[in-house]
Amino acid sequence: MQGLLKIFNKKPLAPLLDDHNPEIQQVDDPDYVVIQLVYPGRVRYTPTVEVGDSVRKGQVIGKSRIGNCVCASISGTVVKMTSVWTAQSFHSPAVVIENDGAPTTEPTEVLGGPISTSDFETAMTRLRSAGVAPPWTLSGREYAEEEEEIPELPPVTTVIITGVRQETTIITSQLLLEQQSDKVAEGLGRIGTLLKGARVCLTAPESYRPWAEAKFAGLADVVFLPEHYTGRIEREVVSRCLGRRIPNRESYRFHGVAVLDVEYLLAMVDALDGLTPFVQKCLTISGTGIDPAVTVRFPLGSSIKHVLDSQGLQISDYTRPVVGGPMMGFAQYSELTPLTYNNGLHLIAEDVSPFDAMAPCINCGRCTRVCPVGIQVHLVNRIIEFGDLENARNLQPEACHECGLCANVCPAERPIVQLLHFCNHEMVHGERYNWITGDNL
Ligand code: SF4
Ligand code: SF4
Repeated sequence: MQGLLKIFNKKPLAPLLDDHNPEIQQVDDPDYVVIQLVYPGRVRYTPTVEVGDSVRKGQVIGKSRIGNCVCASISGTVVKMTSVWTAQSFHSPAVVIENDGAPTTEPTEVLGGPISTSDFETAMTRLRSAGVAPPWTLSGREYAEEEEEIPELPPVTTVIITGVRQETTIITSQLLLEQQSDKVAEGLGRIGTLLKGARVCLTAPESYRPWAEAKFAGLADVVFLPEHYTGRIEREVVSRCLGRRIPNRESYRFHGVAVLDVEYLLAMVDALDGLTPFVQKCLTISGTGIDPAVTVRFPLGSSIKHVLDSQGLQISDYTRPVVGGPMMGFAQYSELTPLTYNNGLHLIAEDVSPFDAMAPCINCGRCTRVCPVGIQVHLVNRIIEFGDLENARNLQPEACHECGLCANVCPAERPIVQLLHFCNHEMVHGERYNWITGDNL
């Protein structure tokens, strides 16, 4: 009942960032890093080092079937090959490197100096060995079993560089876009050289229009995005850039589209210039009382604790740390979970309501009104709740982006996204759905 009174509350559709520190803070090397080797559906690295090996920052420690590499983010000794619970909520094999305080190798020694972008294959080899998996060459499915064939990919006809992150609490991309605009322009030019004939788009915050239009003219079609979350949902932005939709469960790459964040564009330039492999990542820390929000650059595989310690923050002051943003992030239960290709850490200090039995839907219709793809959310989630998946399918649950807007506005706090996720992944497109017979197993 208490929850239902929230129907009278007016709150923003998604949390907004009030203020941020524009300076990216460098996090020191930690005592150890845990580098995960598997990203399901994307890439699986096989370790190229063994326990006891000494490794240097930037050295390749894992390689995928098509030669994409992951590099050591600190110098030290490989002390363990283990399995970790990752920030994305799955288990992954991982390499643990303990910092031995040894001097780091010069990046140019690791990469061997600058190379020309005009030779496509040489450039690809460099990017792969520097840990900058170029998305236009990724199968997107190389996680498949060893014996499985990697399918041929269509040529890339559009590259979309994202200078705006979907979650409004994450400002890594826009800070980099603004502060390293010359290097971004350089990167856009190189993409033009590497992928001749492809259309290049760049997304940027609307507030950058006065300078960004002229800065990137002739290098990319700049698409300006609003401050609010609904205008930044990635699948919607990609549709806007392309002028057509790619079905939710299909990879962009199989439609000739590569989507790449500005941070990776900059990493690509550094790798081609022989400056540094990709061993550090930016992440914005936001949340209750963190005003202004702060963006840090940390060695890949650092723990949540190490990153928070660097800013004088303690996890015990919060009820829930969420890796990612408040709309689509993953709540964490351990501060020792390693951070890798994560962009945000959102800390929540409010009281967490205990789990109730699922509260009834009061048919207020808020969820349906906010849904950016027009799903009849109130209807479909009740149908899923009552197990009638056959009928749920007729209401196109597969169009759901899992953007979280519906759950955020629901006064009954119903687990709407979880219900849709369950329906789509497990019963409609998941392993329990038999495509040959069209039945659920
Ligand atoms: S149903 Fe899916 S797409 Fe629609 S608001 Fe909810 S999470 Fe977003
Ligand atoms: S599920 Fe939708 S219609 Fe039902 S209470 Fe929540 S917001 Fe209202």
